[in-house]
Amino acid sequence: MSGFRGTRRRFLAFSNAILTAGGLASRPLAAADSHKVAEGEDYYDKLGVTKIINAAGTYTALTASTMPPSVQAAVARAAKHPVRLAELQKAAGEYIARLLHCEGALVTAGAASALTLGTAACMTMGKRAAVHNIPIDLAGLKNEVIVQKAHRYDYDHALANCGIRFVEVETIQQYESAFNDRTVMTHYFNAAEAGQIGREDWVRVAHSHGVPCFNDAAADVPPISNLWKYTQMGFDLVAFSGGKGIRGPQNAGLLLGRKDLIAAAVPNNSPNSDSIGRGMKVAKEQIVGMVAALDWFLSQTDAAMETEFRRRAERIAAQLKSIPTLEASIVIPNVAANAVPHLLLRYDQNRVKVSPLAVASELRKGSPSIELNPATGRKGGGGLPSDESTIVVGVWMLEPGEELTVAHRLHEVLGKAANA
Ligand SMILES: *Cc1c(COP(=O)(O)O)cnc(C)c1O
Repeated sequence: MSGFRGTRRRFLAFSNAILTAGGLASRPLAAADSHKVAEGEDYYDKLGVTKIINAAGTYTALTASTMPPSVQAAVARAAKHPVRLAELQKAAGEYIARLLHCEGALVTAGAASALTLGTAACMTMGKRAAVHNIPIDLAGLKNEVIVQKAHRYDYDHALANCGIRFVEVETIQQYESAFNDRTVMTHYFNAAEAGQIGREDWVRVAHSHGVPCFNDAAADVPPISNLWKYTQMGFDLVAFSGGKGIRGPQNAGLLLGRKDLIAAAVPNNSPNSDSIGRGMKVAKEQIVGMVAALDWFLSQTDAAMETEFRRRAERIAAQLKSIPTLEASIVIPNVAANAVPHLLLRYDQNRVKVSPLAVASELRKGSPSIELNPATGRKGGGGLPSDESTIVVGVWMLEPGEELTVAHRLHEVLGKAANA
């Protein structure tokens, strides 16, 4: 504890310095400064970072979503007070579990963290020492995760972090016979575009072997009811991103599911230092922001959201009527992820002499800088019928009014190419 005493002496010196400086600090702030404090200084401007118009969607590299005003306010308010972290984690989890009609819930540092913590929970449940041992020492632990070959994806790493190995299956017979005494969990990618085994069969077979199953539904709202659909279907654990369609903090997410598994995830999570999740810290602001975002999201309706996104898409299409050969359609992707109206634009490149990829690049270089959906100019991205001659506008992350700016810039670039 001598370190503490040293700290205390420094703390006293520090307080004296504050008292001395008190006269200075209590002087009224200059007008410009008080404005900076009230509004928050614009650090993007200060750092020279370009603000963008997000006509793409909830892509992490584009910082995904923005928080609605009520969520921003709740985050700012939470920042003003320290609390006991465990108490906040527990209360937030219980509140979310009630809201989303599941047994248990944990706010994680995103869906990827939920995948790691949920896997760790399955491996370490009832084996407290194992929390400290994974992923290096797996002695006595089950470590095989069964997955459909077509469900292998970029987020495999989040599970692999725990030291597991994947066992791939394709048919239901292969699935049945893949279980053994090392099977710790089965994993399902909810928005997969392929795979022979459906959700209900997947759950039923796992449960007949007494093995928990996990569903990664990170990007799969709306519809809002998906937040309880998969836990009620029988999945033991379900992951959602907090900062995609739910529009919570970008570094928050949800692990939902069975009470005993959520409880087993907790010792694997921050603030426990010797655990796989210590680097997945969720601060009080993000925990509160996640809860506030769910309150906001559940106050919306699927119908009203869809109507608004269609209105934006139609508004952009209406502004482009004069572009020769251009055809607009509004499409909802045919996978579970990002299931909201997107605007697809096709035109004859012999008549409008610019490729969709070149349009995307022009909009990116412009001011304001606009990002179109990454399926633009590419074949079949994310369940959309796009190809080399399609522009895809993701309208759901636009701020009100930005659809007009996007329409204006598209008109400028396409109109110029039509007259070239
Ligand atoms: C986005 C996504 C993730 C990761 O979500 P984060 O909240 O960014 O950690 C995991 N799985 C799928 C399928 C996703 O779409």
